[in-house]
Amino acid sequence: MFLNIKNLTKKYDKVEAVRNVSFSAEEKEIICILGPSGCGKTTILQSIGGFIQIDGGEIILDGNKIENLEPEDREIATVFQSYGLFPHKTVIENITYGLKFRKYKKKDAIEEGKKMLEVLNLRGYENKKVTELSGGEQQRVALGRALIVKPKLLLLDEPFSNLDTKLRVSMREELLRIRDLFNITMLFVTHDQEDAFSIADRIIIMNKGQIEQIDTARNIYLNPKTEFVLRFIGSANIDKGYFVRPEAIRLSENGEEARVVGKTFKGSFIEYIIEYNGNNYKMIRLNNEEEYQINDKIYIEMEMREI
Ligand code: ADP
Ligand code: MG
Repeated sequence: MFLNIKNLTKKYDKVEAVRNVSFSAEEKEIICILGPSGCGKTTILQSIGGFIQIDGGEIILDGNKIENLEPEDREIATVFQSYGLFPHKTVIENITYGLKFRKYKKKDAIEEGKKMLEVLNLRGYENKKVTELSGGEQQRVALGRALIVKPKLLLLDEPFSNLDTKLRVSMREELLRIRDLFNITMLFVTHDQEDAFSIADRIIIMNKGQIEQIDTARNIYLNPKTEFVLRFIGSANIDKGYFVRPEAIRLSENGEEARVVGKTFKGSFIEYIIEYNGNNYKMIRLNNEEEYQINDKIYIEMEMREI
């Protein structure tokens, strides 16, 4: 494996922010670390980037043990939520910053920087101040600054949190394009399920400093390994160790009787609360399907699956 994390542990005083976390990534893979605030996502990235000292574990990148190296010797670049750009510098100065330490002549560095601006659709921006740019543009500058040093691994810590929904969607596409263009491996931290489902090859679900499940989006959703994963991803009807997703409740003439007790229009779909066997269940139907009213009788089929 290209990146191997073995038994990573980090304590702050007595709090174990990350405990015995192990996972790996193939070259060019995009792994998303997904979990609630405080579960240890940032701590994992900072450990891998070398910004904090770890209490235990190994980090192997492309065959080299790197956990004792200085951040600048790890061949890893990081993009932060807050972009971390130099506000008093121009776009090109920001983008080429990392080349200063790599014995580039100024002229060559500017050439490289201009190429990067082309790639990121920022042509003509070189002399603008970063403070004049929109959030999305600043984020692309931050990506350019990270990528220009040709890192083996790109770490992204909630990079889209400050962007509105439309921009988030286009930045996700941008990241996928960048992966293909630079053949780069990415570790992407988010608390947003949509981010993870849109771009990840595999998702790591974290809870209280530990990994709950590592899997594809499909498997995480369809075959959650723990109740935490089930509750964290999407919505589910849960009863004594069994669950059924709202869309898995089917209508059938030969099904069993249930009654509509609640209804909310959600746009592309309608969410119903139905009463069946003395319990309430959430069920969804697309908005172009037959619509039911409160108190309507419906006939349903469902399979409760074991968690
Ligand atoms: P996340 O990024 O998932 O929100 P963090 O990795 O930032 O979570 O934090 C994990 C845990 O470690 C939290 O309980 C947090 O309060 C704690 N923590 C993080 N950084 C520090 C620090 N510098 N000092 C003390 N505790 C910290
Ligand atoms: Mg964080």
